[in-house]
Amino acid sequence: MAAAPLAVFKLWLDDYVRREGAFEVQAAANHAVGLAERRLGMTIDELDKVAARGVASCRNDHLEVLRSANFSASPVKEFSIIGPDGRTLCSDLGAAPGERAVVASGPIAGRADAALELVQVGSRQERFLRLRRPTITGANVLAALLPPDLLLTPISAAGGPVLSQTQMRLAGGAIVGEAGPAALPTESFVASARSERFGLSVMVLLPRSVKFRQHQDLESIGYMIAGAMALLLFGFAALRPRRTRDNPVVEIEKALKAGEFVPYYQPVIDITTARIRGAEVLMRWRKPDGTIIPPGHFIPLAESSGLIAEMMRHLMRAVRDEMGDAVIDRPFLRFGFNLSACHFRDDSIVADVREIFEGSTIRLAQLVLELTERHPLDNLTSARRVIAALQGLGVKVAIDDVGAGHSGLSYILKLGVDIIKIDKIFIDALGHDSNSTTIIETLMDLARNLRMDVIAEGVENFEQVVALRERGIRAAQGYVFAPPLPGSAFLQLIEATDPVASVQEATLPARRPLALPLAPPLGPRAA
Ligand code: C2E
Ligand code: CA
Ligand code: CA
Repeated sequence: MAAAPLAVFKLWLDDYVRREGAFEVQAAANHAVGLAERRLGMTIDELDKVAARGVASCRNDHLEVLRSANFSASPVKEFSIIGPDGRTLCSDLGAAPGERAVVASGPIAGRADAALELVQVGSRQERFLRLRRPTITGANVLAALLPPDLLLTPISAAGGPVLSQTQMRLAGGAIVGEAGPAALPTESFVASARSERFGLSVMVLLPRSVKFRQHQDLESIGYMIAGAMALLLFGFAALRPRRTRDNPVVEIEKALKAGEFVPYYQPVIDITTARIRGAEVLMRWRKPDGTIIPPGHFIPLAESSGLIAEMMRHLMRAVRDEMGDAVIDRPFLRFGFNLSACHFRDDSIVADVREIFEGSTIRLAQLVLELTERHPLDNLTSARRVIAALQGLGVKVAIDDVGAGHSGLSYILKLGVDIIKIDKIFIDALGHDSNSTTIIETLMDLARNLRMDVIAEGVENFEQVVALRERGIRAAQGYVFAPPLPGSAFLQLIEATDPVASVQEATLPARRPLALPLAPPLGPRAA
């Protein structure tokens, strides 16, 4: 892990140097073309001025004009008059110039009368650029010679020696001139630019090694920083065991190992017979000091950390072990568990349920797995498959908090569940709000048509019980009957309301008259 910052820095430096190198050679090529265009442009303007003054021969007054033109046009080596046969008749210097051999020539955009040539001068065969245009009177031609060096003044961005190589060519490919080191390694940054007006192109090459050398200081600073980061990472790694002590996920993990997550049971009541049909299992964190933490404080973190799966297995085993004996004579009791969205992503919950309950006194048909409508599922297809697989085992599947989420009826229909649990919001509004009442009635119709059971949640008073019964709802849970109870209290409650000696089938009339509430709230209601 410590090597990672170094590797990342190396990658960054490579990329930085590559981008900087590419940018630098392109800028140099553009600069050279711009410079050549300006200097050639100035020179052709000067030739036009000379022509306009009627210079057409080697007469002294004409040579005088050529001399003053050379004085003002700085990049020009000489102005000259060329005869019809191509020989240079005279230059502004007066003396008859030596041999000038034309190597290549090209047109100038927008100037049909003018041309740009590459010429070799004298016995040393030095190469020059030559601009030419006709005189206005005779067959002679006015010309200006420019040393390519003046167009290729190589500059170094860093101010030191020029390390890039610049090459200028005419349109036909003839080399006008070169600047910078002659031999270059093959590993170079390359860029080119072109003057459309003069048909010139410039290519710039810069060795990669040069750029890397230029960034040696950056490289050493970078390696220092990366090294420091590596050390910091080591430091964090060494500190890790101490830091994780306050990490809430680690706390949950430890509590799970210590068996601190326990089931509480909220009875689900048949409101037509006042008998207990079963319970919803609600998780509690019972700390060693006896503090009870409600699920809202740890379930979200358990879900995001992935610990929820193991916690649910633990909770199911605890219910199996705690309720196993009581259900032997009460096979109608059902236990509902709250699942999370992650349980519907793959089949592992199906395997877990089977592994935990198969062969236990709690049959798979006594289990209800609740899926909340509050948080949307990320994959309906896989959820549908998991639900079908659970139903294949005989397990019932319920949609929880119906009406509290956003998905509505289509969700319920698509998932093919067995039970719908109507959210407390609608129960609270029963009788006061006609919309809620209508929705409950619609849900009841839907449930009847799809042969689904309905459970009302969060029932807190008798008026609500009466209103639910009037609408044909049989099952309900809420504080009016009992809050979520610890296992021992729930067992006492079922023993008191359905003593084993006189246990009847759930469908038979209740032995006890309907006397609600069934259990006084034990301690704080949220417990
Ligand atoms: P839920 O499944 O909707 O559970 C019903 C909640 O309403 C419970 O809160 C219960 O104590 C509370 N309740 C019951 N009757 C009444 C009532 O008459 N009035 C009012 N105001 N509230 C009532 P709890 O136990 O705090 O659970 C909150 C939520 O935590 C649950 O909502 C469920 O979504 C989640 N949860 C609880 N246990 C588990 C679990 O084992 N696994 C997962 N994944 N989630 C769980
Ligand atoms: Ca629930
Ligand atoms: Ca609920």
